[in-house]
Amino acid sequence: MEPESMTRMLCLHLERNQLSNGEARTWTVQKSPLGGRGLFAVRDIAVGELLYVDAPLVVGPRAQSKHLPLCPGCYKTGCPLFPCDRGCGLPICSTVCESSSTHQNECSILKSWKPTCGSSWSMDLLRALVPIRALSLDNQQRELINFFQSNSWPQRTSELDILKKNIEIQPEKNEEEFMARVCSVMDTNACETAAFVGKSVTSLRGLYPMIALQNHSCRPNTRHYYNSEQILYVLATVPIKKGDEITMTYTDLFWDTKLRRGHLAATKHFFCNCSRCADPLENGSLLGALRCASDRCTGNLLAIQPLNDETPWKCTECGLIMKNRQINSIRSGLSSIVEEVTYKNPRQMMKFIKNELSILVPATNYLMVEMKLRIISSLGKTDKFLWPDLTRDDLTIKEKYCRDLLSLIKTLKWGECKMKGLISYELYRSLEERDGREKRLIQQFELKGDDEKQNLLTTAVLILKNDVTAPENLPTVISVTEKAKEVDFNQA
Ligand SMILES: [Zn+2]
Ligand SMILES: [Zn+2]
Ligand SMILES: [Zn+2]
Ligand SMILES: [Zn+2]
Repeated sequence: MEPESMTRMLCLHLERNQLSNGEARTWTVQKSPLGGRGLFAVRDIAVGELLYVDAPLVVGPRAQSKHLPLCPGCYKTGCPLFPCDRGCGLPICSTVCESSSTHQNECSILKSWKPTCGSSWSMDLLRALVPIRALSLDNQQRELINFFQSNSWPQRTSELDILKKNIEIQPEKNEEEFMARVCSVMDTNACETAAFVGKSVTSLRGLYPMIALQNHSCRPNTRHYYNSEQILYVLATVPIKKGDEITMTYTDLFWDTKLRRGHLAATKHFFCNCSRCADPLENGSLLGALRCASDRCTGNLLAIQPLNDETPWKCTECGLIMKNRQINSIRSGLSSIVEEVTYKNPRQMMKFIKNELSILVPATNYLMVEMKLRIISSLGKTDKFLWPDLTRDDLTIKEKYCRDLLSLIKTLKWGECKMKGLISYELYRSLEERDGREKRLIQQFELKGDDEKQNLLTTAVLILKNDVTAPENLPTVISVTEKAKEVDFNQA
């Protein structure tokens, strides 16, 4: 399909979901140097600007057991579920959900196939719900699905095979073919989205045609979030110039080049050759650096040609060359050491960083970064390590690690990315806790550092507002600061 017709079809999709902003549209579809087609900016776009809003063509439960069971009507989990009274074989939480519009189509389709689970409900049917839901799409929407079909690797249709084992009457051939296509399109293009039910979040998968066209970059220029109705918002994290490709990431950006490229090759079937991947210094972050093996040398081992999978590595100080094979065995040794620690509590992890990891790898290494991130996300937030449980030292370390990661984000030029919002908020909370304790101690209410705290909170709110996964206590509006006054919080 030509880029122009693709643009037209996406506009139609947005119009029917009342999400189109007509002539003011920021994007267009073009052939991408990154491969296939991509989204491109049609004008200069400022940091924080909304690029587009998208709705899923089809959305529903994820197939993995840890996300199931749930009610297909309201996506509630962990509640009593009953077999749908109409005999579709799906579980349901209430008569309201049973007769909800979300459930009507799938209910009658499934009933016509005569589920074999009798008067009970079947988890297998729940797993296959997304392709079943896709059968309600009209021709225009099916055409959009067809566009995303990829023929370059084998189709995975396990949900469909499971479905067929659980029904008496098999679907018609063309319906089966279409469902198989949906399975494989979901496999490569679906996004993890979420439903907000009461106070808990249910993870779902959805096919969002706009974001499915965004290609990967290891230095993406957008962030995205979902509201509680699974509507997707995509915003610029850095200034985007007219004609620039609009990108996102398909991998963990805190990983080093070898890990990112390996992960992209295994899960998305391509080799990333972006400027970050090509740079042995990784834009100055040295995330992949290993300690030199020579005695008393303080240099770093870095890949000579990061885009070549077999590249030798070289020490920045003494010039020692290590074969790729040797590097691989060092790396796998290190990751198994770290793997063991990830199940431990944050204080044990801190001890591990101090006594072991800091001796094994340079401070810039991604294993160190991963560990710090884990510690930040446990301190103040997990059982036995809630804010009142933390010692003064715990707080100091959390604060330091937050600052380390914020400075890494700056080095890598990720702009106003979601991670910056989350870590800014964690740093703000640490400072707030520390100041709260000092206030209690010295009965003094004017403390230094309030400007910094306010700035951190402003950053966090600007990045995370409206995001369904934002921290629970994040204020929706920040009290007046100069920066905040300029911003319209109702936008986006
Ligand atoms: Zn329900
Ligand atoms: Zn039903
Ligand atoms: Zn890359
Ligand atoms: Zn050396």
